Amino acid sequence: MTTRSIERLVEGQFVSDGAGVRLRRIIGTPQADYLDPFLMLDEFRTDEADDYIAGFPDHPHRGFETVTYMIHGRMRHQDSVGNSGVLSDGAVQWMTAGRGIIHSEMPEQTNGLLWGYQLWVNLPSALKMSSPQYQDIPTNDVVEVETDGLKIRVLAGNYAGHPATADTLTPIAYFDASLDAQCNFTHPVPDGHTVLLYVYDGSVQIGGDGSGEISPGTLAILSRAGDIDVTAGEGGGKFLLLTGEPINEPVARMGPFVMTTEEEIHQAVRDYQAGTLA
Ligand code: FE
Repeated sequence: MTTRSIERLVEGQFVSDGAGVRLRRIIGTPQADYLDPFLMLDEFRTDEADDYIAGFPDHPHRGFETVTYMIHGRMRHQDSVGNSGVLSDGAVQWMTAGRGIIHSEMPEQTNGLLWGYQLWVNLPSALKMSSPQYQDIPTNDVVEVETDGLKIRVLAGNYAGHPATADTLTPIAYFDASLDAQCNFTHPVPDGHTVLLYVYDGSVQIGGDGSGEISPGTLAILSRAGDIDVTAGEGGGKFLLLTGEPINEPVARMGPFVMTTEEEIHQAVRDYQAGTLA
């Protein structure tokens, strides 16, 4: 059996976004710009209210999907056509921006700590102008698989015959994995698919390649062929795992708009200015 090895390790970078929210950008940086089909991954993890309380006031999106996953704390969202809700500890929201959404996302404290992730998944050009939609999955509806020393929350895709509650337009898998000390996790992925692993607690080792332990705050970009094979370190290991089929199309990107051509970006700006985006 071939197992994937580490192609590259990338450290997340602290940046400021929204109305002054301090976050760690893991994908969408000069070092990890576009890991097809993944456009962006941000980590909010702080107990300083000033880092996030200004939130993300009204802003548009077009051409991709956002996935918000709260581990601790709440995110209140509201869009320009009346949809609203609150995501709380352990919940996932899948938002297909499609042709356009204008919304706000405002973090709220739970005992001071805010800890969550927002992922942006690209859409193929044929689906970029599809109808906007939401899939809100409260924590109790997130599929969880627990075996010896292993807990996998299936946020998207399918783990060992357990499909996620959410449907994804771009075929991806997104797992939140918790491994006890020295426990081993394996998962098959078609050759050619992108595989990314972000460690957020403890440490892990990839495959049997003796490449050393990966510590929190680091994204591992894995090679293109074989199964995924991860072993936790002495103190256990927790990580987000992303796998996806590359879309292999040009990307034209400007802030919250991600399209295939520059002309489509100009059109998105015109639609937003004319009030016809959403
Ligand atoms: Fe947004």
